[in-house]
Amino acid sequence: MSTLEIKDLHVSVILDDENTKQILKGVNLTINSGEIHAIMGPNGSGKSTLASTIAGHPKYVVDSGEILLDGEDVTEMSVDERARAGLFLAMQYPVEIPGVTMSNFLRSAKTAVDGEAPALRTWTKDVKAAMSDLQIDPDFISRNVNEGFSGGEKKRHEILQLELLKPKFGILDETDSGLDVDALKIVSAGVNRAHEKNDMGVLLITHYTRILKYIKPEFVHVFVDGKMVDQGGPELADRLEEEGYVSYVGK
Ligand code: ADP
Ligand code: MG
Ligand code: MG
Repeated sequence: MSTLEIKDLHVSVILDDENTKQILKGVNLTINSGEIHAIMGPNGSGKSTLASTIAGHPKYVVDSGEILLDGEDVTEMSVDERARAGLFLAMQYPVEIPGVTMSNFLRSAKTAVDGEAPALRTWTKDVKAAMSDLQIDPDFISRNVNEGFSGGEKKRHEILQLELLKPKFGILDETDSGLDVDALKIVSAGVNRAHEKNDMGVLLITHYTRILKYIKPEFVHVFVDGKMVDQGGPELADRLEEEGYVSYVGK
């Protein structure tokens, strides 16, 4: 079993050469293998900053606090080292990588994460099966990463990585944004498969309860102005759907 532990995390974003702005103001969170946690909060509260900081984005500076993966502090690790350690971030705005085919990209990513190239026959089979599960067109494998992909295709591609790379913890930032109901179901099923097959811990960041119909969190955290302000079970998500975040804002 693995544990991802965030302790009293304070984070600033680098605005320019001289200025930073504090975004995270003491975040505490513990996720174990096999657990699904949802973080919900209004726009601009710092949810993506938390996700990017866990993944090691260089724009975000940890002022104090710790991010521990199985007791080891990852805050000094590079993005690649974190991926090898078992962290995976699906981003709110996936990037295009011109000139790199999906096929090469996936194989390189798998090799980087595992420290050795995957056995070709099983790998090709695994990729095909995962693509078929996610209803991704087989032609996709020869296209360039995210180039000309629709929003939904980009999201499916991210979940494809999640299924193939088998991280210990998957961080999904607004994976539901811009998806129609059918795509949302397919993407959610992929997340649930990775969670069930690989005992992956999930940190699901969203500001709508819509995706929680398909991915069932055991724990729901409310995030406002750089901090966790409440936590509970799935019933909390239902309450937020009705009441919004007004009762938390300004506290
Ligand atoms: P959320 O994901 O909850 O909508 P974000 O983490 O994206 O919130 O943003 C939190 C706050 O930090 C916002 O005020 C946003 O403008 C600011 N912020 C985040 N990243 C950057 C950045 N790279 N440059 C400038 N401001 C940023
Ligand atoms: Mg946002
Ligand atoms: Mg965000």
